[in-house]
Amino acid sequence: MKGLSRRISILGATGSVGASTALLIEEVRAGGAEIEIEAITGGRNLATLIDLARRLRPRFVALADESQLVAARAALPGVAVGAGPSALVEAAARDADWVMSAIVGAAGLAPTLAAVERGAAIALANKECLVCAGPLMRAAAAKSGARLLPVDSEHNAVFQVLSTPDRVERVTLTASGGPFRTWTREAMARASPAEAGRHPTWSMGPKITIDSATLMNKGLELIEASYLFDISPEKLSVLVHPQSVVHSLVHYVDGSVLAQMAAPDMRVPIASALAWPDRVPVSTARLDLARIGALSFEEPDENRFPALALARAALTTGAAATNALNAANEIAVEAFLRGRIGFLDIPHLVEASLEALAALGLIANSPSSFDDVRAIDEAARAAAGRELNRLAAA
Ligand code: NDP
Repeated sequence: MKGLSRRISILGATGSVGASTALLIEEVRAGGAEIEIEAITGGRNLATLIDLARRLRPRFVALADESQLVAARAALPGVAVGAGPSALVEAAARDADWVMSAIVGAAGLAPTLAAVERGAAIALANKECLVCAGPLMRAAAAKSGARLLPVDSEHNAVFQVLSTPDRVERVTLTASGGPFRTWTREAMARASPAEAGRHPTWSMGPKITIDSATLMNKGLELIEASYLFDISPEKLSVLVHPQSVVHSLVHYVDGSVLAQMAAPDMRVPIASALAWPDRVPVSTARLDLARIGALSFEEPDENRFPALALARAALTTGAAATNALNAANEIAVEAFLRGRIGFLDIPHLVEASLEALAALGLIANSPSSFDDVRAIDEAARAAAGRELNRLAAA
């Protein structure tokens, strides 16, 4: 592809979005695009990070796990390698004009902020950093001139069809419904991590896969959409669409509804963000509507999936509540994946943590700094930890 020229960094390169990004980069490079890789980062998966570094040839490689620094340096002679939180921030702060933010969870906040503060274009997969600190992130982007290019497929869809923002009546985010779309609460109560991990349409990392099963992912996405597009909560709705072909819909005041469609493959929204405002050829499977035959839609069931209502309530309460919701959810998902709690305990634990923080008066005021964000995050993790111990003792 002639014409596309980028210097990029990939935060969270060793994950699922990172893998799709690397494949895409290799394809567009082979097609003639000029893509230099400034930095890539990983968490603990050194083997994948080394493989990616050899394939993509970045100038700088960072990993979260400091205990593997010596091994990483030995495996990558001639490449600058760092480890630990400051190395992740350094990777983001280096001079790339396009940065993929694909670390999972609040761990992505500081590196993403470093890229935002220097005015880079941010391909934003890490929704948690907006859920934790949406208003502050937006303010930082407005100050530096950083452009937030949504990569979450639903938000990328909205971004692609949002032509006249002041004429939007409503935005609908679609949801696959996850593996438990048709399950009863009794069956969900007994669901194992392996069952929750069988997503019907997307192949993703473990945390977002569990979030998709509880529908907390859609709740986090409502919050993300509100902060990203400056849309009030009452204008945001969710529609379950099991085929994951229509990625979202924007309803305009004249009754027109614009939707973006594509086969479910993360390379589509990543390519859209990479080439924006242009487009780049990508060899993803083409959407064949005749073969699919029928698309179906249904209202989400907030009784069976209370996480959606919890997220909506947090969004209405404010940015401290969404910050706390994210932290408590991270603790709950981790505990479920380790077999410490049941599937339905996830929303319960999040709700109990938010109630504990509300009782302490910690979620009444929006955080006014990133230090506030970190303090609320820590308080919510501590509250979730107490609730976990209470559940374990019961
Ligand atoms: P994965 O779990 O597959 O990957 C997460 C990445 O973050 C890995 O590179 C991992 O490193 C790294 N990481 C984990 N913990 C830390 C840490 N403490 N410090 C630094 N790096 C860390 O997740 P996904 O790729 O599925 O998701 C990434 C983000 O994108 C999430 O926010 C998710 O919600 C969002 N997203 C994902 C989609 C998908 O299709 N997967 C779709 C839309 C959004 P390592 O593995 O080396 O430990």
